[in-house]
Amino acid sequence: ILCPVNAQHRCKANGCDLSDSRLVREERETTQKRLPRTHHYNHDDLLLNTNQMRSGVYIQKFRP
Ligand SMILES: [Zn+2]
Repeated sequence: ILCPVNAQHRCKANGCDLSDSRLVREERETTQKRLPRTHHYNHDDLLLNTNQMRSGVYIQKFRP
């Protein structure tokens, strides 16, 4: 492993929405409360963040 990378999903282009939900945990217990969670469409459409300065020596060669 040379360095960590930051890959972000292109949510706007793929029309991702908040149609998923997750259960809320309180005081180490799962409740029946739910909070909205992002539903990603087209999971493989990721964007590599090449602007991160940390580990730039490895990341910069992927810049367009
Ligand atoms: Zn998304």
